[in-house]
Amino acid sequence: MWSLRKVHGEAKRPCSTVVLLYHRIGMPRLSSLVTGQYVLPRFFRAQLDYLVYRGWNSTTLSAVVEQLAKAHHLDCNNFAVTFDDAYLGVYDHACPALADRGMTATVFVVVDRIGGVNEWDSAVGDVREPIMSEGQIKEIAELGFEIGSHSLTHPHLVALSDSDLRQEVSDSKKKLEDIIGKQVSAFSYPYGEYDRRVLDAVAEAGYEYAVVTKLGTVRNDTSPFEIPRVNIRWNTVGRLLMRKIRRAERTRRIRK
Ligand SMILES: [Zn+2]
Repeated sequence: MWSLRKVHGEAKRPCSTVVLLYHRIGMPRLSSLVTGQYVLPRFFRAQLDYLVYRGWNSTTLSAVVEQLAKAHHLDCNNFAVTFDDAYLGVYDHACPALADRGMTATVFVVVDRIGGVNEWDSAVGDVREPIMSEGQIKEIAELGFEIGSHSLTHPHLVALSDSDLRQEVSDSKKKLEDIIGKQVSAFSYPYGEYDRRVLDAVAEAGYEYAVVTKLGTVRNDTSPFEIPRVNIRWNTVGRLLMRKIRRAERTRRIRK
């Protein structure tokens, strides 16, 4: 009886495309203000394998946006992986795990902090975490990882003057393109904060799509400049991961 109900319940569930959001991959640092953002490398690998085991397919953010542009059909049970802030732990642990499985991801870089640390966090008391170097960013770009912009310095974009906003959004794109020698199409709003003015600045700078931090799944009517994500924390593993994806599906339905 239990299993019948379970099978029936699965069948009724919507078929989703989700974009996963990660920050730090590595051993949690207990002195961090955001300990929950650290995902152990073995948990990261387990999350990928669990999704595949449950019948999900890995895709890329750009492929999702391409489907959105056609406006008719989004593939079922697809997941794309994204990393905000371009931490060294992502290069060390997550990129090899993805490459081993024939998967890629989008890495959003704080361009003026390349090869440095997360100054925007450490300025307010968090631990210093190393950011990927220019060479490492180039290397993963050549391996097929998409490189997106996460601004120049990780400011609160909504609080900036028009000219500072333009600089953060536009200059970060140009600098990244010079580094990787490819067009940069993706933007991630620092702190997930944006308003109409920020949206316009991102579109005017020539980005084709942008991700937010609001929980949700990608639907046919999702704006390419407000793509929701599912934030993965240290313990979002196994059934908890699936439960969070189901919550993302419900969030969107309630909001409509
Ligand atoms: Zn960030």
